[in-house]
Amino acid sequence: MTSRLGYMGRKLGGWIPPALSQILAHGLGRPAAVFFHGVEPVTLDPHLQVNHHEVPVFRAIMAALKRNFDVLPLAELDDVLAHPERHRRTVFLMSDDGYANTLSVAQPILEEMGLPWTLFVSTRHIDTRDRNPIFLARLFFHYMPAGRYAIPHLPAVDLEDAAREAMTHAGIACLTALDMGRANEAVAAMVAALTGAGLAPLIEQFSSESFLTWPQVRELHRRGVEIGAHAHWHWPLNAAQTVEQLREQACRPRQRVEAEIGPCRYFAYPFGNTGDVSGAAWRAVRDAGYEAAFTTVSGTPEVEQNRFLLPRYGIGPDETHLASLIPLLSAGNRRLTRWQKELAA
Ligand SMILES: [Zn+2]
Repeated sequence: MTSRLGYMGRKLGGWIPPALSQILAHGLGRPAAVFFHGVEPVTLDPHLQVNHHEVPVFRAIMAALKRNFDVLPLAELDDVLAHPERHRRTVFLMSDDGYANTLSVAQPILEEMGLPWTLFVSTRHIDTRDRNPIFLARLFFHYMPAGRYAIPHLPAVDLEDAAREAMTHAGIACLTALDMGRANEAVAAMVAALTGAGLAPLIEQFSSESFLTWPQVRELHRRGVEIGAHAHWHWPLNAAQTVEQLREQACRPRQRVEAEIGPCRYFAYPFGNTGDVSGAAWRAVRDAGYEAAFTTVSGTPEVEQNRFLLPRYGIGPDETHLASLIPLLSAGNRRLTRWQKELAA
């Protein structure tokens, strides 16, 4: 999800000449955190593969990061927050979800460039290889034949041949307003409908959506990648979730990473925008024992902020102006701080 600030920043980033953005970065720059999801050689269907950069674009973005910033390991977070004036060009690089292509495609590129990064895994998907529920919903709304479908906990779904993307948006909005228990039932019904329609091979075709196995996560960790948690099931930790569900989403992934890999110090909220994280959610994350947690709200991490609601910027699919945009991210801090205060109340 792209925030309004992200959109404006992208426009501005394109407008600001590179030389000026360098001056901005030196004078006003603040440490920043940015993230991607996966990287694929080619995109077969942009409606479905919304989480992946194509290799040449990814290479260009990462080269720009390397040229213009100091990309540091997340273990430096405390020092960076304590001394932002020494870290005007510091960027933390992260990847969310745990797609298999982060090992096969992204890691060789990042290793070649010497860029450290953190991977946030949704542990139920590593345990079961079940696809991301939002991908399954996209598959349902885009690929099921036209007709009326009864999906538990959702209004009757009338799929027509036209306007599938609009229906997908509306359907996903209804779905993510459900608690995990009901959402699981709704997604299971979509998968059953897909399987019944003979569309199961599509799930295979879009191998970009397959998750890492634990031995693969271990391999990334062995190569220096910090492993953090991105909830157990890839679902928003929003106000629809019960306290019990939030506790499970916060505690279980830490236990799984610690059992399989080693210390799990950081958390990133799935979806992670203002509507996707509740006051009870960040408290559950704090109480689970993490050192810090990242949202997807725009801004720059600052020492006086709630360290369980730190800002982060999602790298857009064709983010050619990222280097000009990063120095502008601190413009989001007022809105971010206001939101943090609302959630603290
Ligand atoms: Zn995610």
